Amino acid sequence: MKLDPKRNRERMVREQIEARGVSDPAVLSAMRKIPRHEFVQEALASQAYDDRPQPIGEGQTISQPYVVALMTELLEVSPGLRVLEIGTGSGYQAAVLAELGAEVYTVERIKKLHIEARDRFMAMRSFNIFLKLDDGTMGWPEHAPYDRIMVTAGGPKIPRPLVEQMADPGRMVIPVGDSKRLQQLKVVVKEGGRVTVRDHGGVAFVDLVGTHGW
Ligand code: SAH
Repeated sequence: MKLDPKRNRERMVREQIEARGVSDPAVLSAMRKIPRHEFVQEALASQAYDDRPQPIGEGQTISQPYVVALMTELLEVSPGLRVLEIGTGSGYQAAVLAELGAEVYTVERIKKLHIEARDRFMAMRSFNIFLKLDDGTMGWPEHAPYDRIMVTAGGPKIPRPLVEQMADPGRMVIPVGDSKRLQQLKVVVKEGGRVTVRDHGGVAFVDLVGTHGW
């Protein structure tokens, strides 16, 4: 495949994302803008816009573009909201959230990935993304509450600290499943002191490892 990132992104949005029903113009525009090929290993840049997850080292993956777009749409992000992401990985999802005008706090447990993502954000001059190396199933209490929380790894249950750190009103998108590698995407809504959970289809994420994970 010829490397023409802008054209590849256009095609990715049209054929993989819009065609499957993601329609929020702000999400589509962010997916058109963020250079996904700069978040994968250099040797894999030519396949960065393919319709599948990509390896990012340490046995981890960056989600399929459609899944990133779907989760971002489900999160209902608007400018100025404070968003917590668990599982920084390459930093791609965090960059998409920041492009939507959010103030992004992102936690990663693997040091190498944390440092690589930090260096990427510095090179891209993304100043509204804050990173922490830690077990994200504990959240990031210092900056709570969060208007939005997105978890990009799959665990057996919804970590209680994350529910506690949601603002009211607040919203969380998280894959949960009692078998590894296959989860239900859940949308958790906190409003008026009540928490409701709605299922949103099957997904396959790498493991959420930690105190409230596997
Ligand atoms: N959002 C990422 C993809 C994440 S892959 C991106 O856009 O590239 C899932 C990531 O979650 C992996 O990097 C994995 O190390 C991390 N992870 C798993 N359990 C975690 C935990 N308890 N706290 C923080 N990060 C965790």
